Amino acid sequence: MGNVGTVYLVGAGPGDPDLLTLRAARLLGRAELVVHDGLIDPAVFALIRPDAKLVSVAKSRARHTLPQDRINALLVREALAGHDVVRLKGGDPFVFGRGGEEAEACRAAGVPVEIVPGITSALGAAAAAQIPLTHRDSASIVSFVAGQCKGLTEQNWAGLAGKGRTLVIYMGVTNAPNIAEKLMADGLAPDVPVAVIENAARPEMRVLRGALAALPQLVERERVKSPALIIIGEVTAEKDAALAQIALEAHS
Ligand code: SAH
Repeated sequence: MGNVGTVYLVGAGPGDPDLLTLRAARLLGRAELVVHDGLIDPAVFALIRPDAKLVSVAKSRARHTLPQDRINALLVREALAGHDVVRLKGGDPFVFGRGGEEAEACRAAGVPVEIVPGITSALGAAAAAQIPLTHRDSASIVSFVAGQCKGLTEQNWAGLAGKGRTLVIYMGVTNAPNIAEKLMADGLAPDVPVAVIENAARPEMRVLRGALAALPQLVERERVKSPALIIIGEVTAEKDAALAQIALEAHS
């Protein structure tokens, strides 16, 4: 048997190619085979060696082009054939990216695997929208949860949102009504501030704000589309705007 290739699980960050690690950029620059999912920004593709072979395994909620075990098998097969594989994933490979499953499949097959972390979209969105996920005045706990339909009702989010806490929900916009309802049933006040960040760290980014009870209407009225994150908590309130308003009132 010839040499076995290495599988690199590489985080592509939230969009802007400047947010890749140097290590990710170097790997893309010399890659011969890149297996990528659907959330990769076109600008990131420009960093890939021009003659590299690109394989898309894009998944959408409605359309599963390649089931996870087929993706695992593809990575293993290519590596056993002696090819290094760059498996490019949006954000960070180990945050809701199924990187854990791919790494396990590689190890089980005796294929060396390396993880190259990326900026997960929660951090990219927070930075781009200037929302600090923690703040000495308002939040000392931050949680990341997945808000897609499957399994939502069984998930226990009690205590993850509320005073002193920031909750970041991935994959939640299509399920916003159930999410708002679930959180209020857990005792969260209807007027807790929320932000929705669509296409974070991309030129078409939108940051929308409102109150928890009005989250479903906000998502519907603004026709929010994936990829988008929901951030819940005091840190999303427009503090500077509120202070400016107070200053204005004091002068009038
Ligand atoms: N591994 C990825 C997450 C994959 S799950 C990461 O670390 O970011 C896919 C979800 O990530 C989307 O439904 C959305 O909630 C979020 N997401 C990914 N990229 C995003 C972006 N540019 N802006 C806002 N949300 C994004």
